[in-house]
Amino acid sequence: MSVKIDLRSDTVTKPTAGMLAAMMEASVGDDVFGEDQSVHELENKLASMFGMQAGLFCPSGTMTNQIAIKCFTQPMDEVICDQTAHVYRYEGGGIAYHSQASVRLLNGPRGILTPEMIEPEINEPNIHYPNSSLVVLENTVNKGGGSCYTLGQIEPIHTLCNIKGLKLHLDGARIFNALVATGDHAAAYGQYFDGISICLSKGLGAPVGSVLLGNKETIQKARKIRKVFGGGMRQAGFLAAAGMYALENHVSRLAIDHHHAKAIEAALSQVNYVAGILPVETNIVVFEIAEGFKASHIVHLLHEKGILCNTTGPNTVRMVTHLDISPEMIDGVIQNIIHLHPIAHK
Ligand SMILES: *Cc1c(COP(=O)(O)O)cnc(C)c1O
Repeated sequence: MSVKIDLRSDTVTKPTAGMLAAMMEASVGDDVFGEDQSVHELENKLASMFGMQAGLFCPSGTMTNQIAIKCFTQPMDEVICDQTAHVYRYEGGGIAYHSQASVRLLNGPRGILTPEMIEPEINEPNIHYPNSSLVVLENTVNKGGGSCYTLGQIEPIHTLCNIKGLKLHLDGARIFNALVATGDHAAAYGQYFDGISICLSKGLGAPVGSVLLGNKETIQKARKIRKVFGGGMRQAGFLAAAGMYALENHVSRLAIDHHHAKAIEAALSQVNYVAGILPVETNIVVFEIAEGFKASHIVHLLHEKGILCNTTGPNTVRMVTHLDISPEMIDGVIQNIIHLHPIAHK
């Protein structure tokens, strides 16, 4: 097979012709001076979509998350999140480095937390204890195989945080996948979160960019922190225009990615070298390799067939569907999964 089918991540998409045209037409200015019309439009559009006051366009989701954590904590505070959380595992120790806060890790099934799990981990005021000041949720949960929170699950967590005086931040790198899967409305999110981070460069298919949402005061503080982190960008409107185009054209089609992931799940459920699959809810498929087979070997064999995916542990493999994966490619993936005959190791 000559064409590579790249299922390593939904970050590998390239801008479409329509997106590139929208980028070329962007009206831009120096955004550090607050003069980029396209950046303002994107920030305002997302803020109003999610029922929040203001937005801040940043280079990455790592930056929007880390800025939010810095806005919502003081040194010596503690952040509560699931042990699989991106903010803890994949942001390079940024919570310790930028915010000088400790982390309390919970163990939610597929990364999904409940108020019952969180409440006993909130410290009472006592000089021995770090001050619990922030809860971070992830929707969808990357390491959970794209598992989703519904708003019904988020509301009681918000209530608990409110009573206990903790802030609540959402790592919504794939929030649109969650919205499409659950049928929840974006506009209802604002009332529950102090901060929401949204990636445009995942399933939405923009080349660069994430937006942090919050109230005016938070975003003013966040703008200062972004500058200090080195994330103030000049004619960023070209990138914001790609994000705007993605919001207008690439949201409802996420259902196709979810459908494709389901089709991969169905194929994997038929083969002897797969022991289990995390139930597919969105665009991520995580599966466990059966005893006697090696995940790295399966990935290698698929690679030889032109299908790229990654191991996520010694026995687990991840495939992610996205904008650049066509139905024909999915048919090819399914045929290859079914006809792959890996040799069992003793
Ligand atoms: C990708 C991702 C981010 C942000 O990653 P960047 O590469 O820094 O944009 C944050 N959280 C989750 C769950 C992600 O998958």
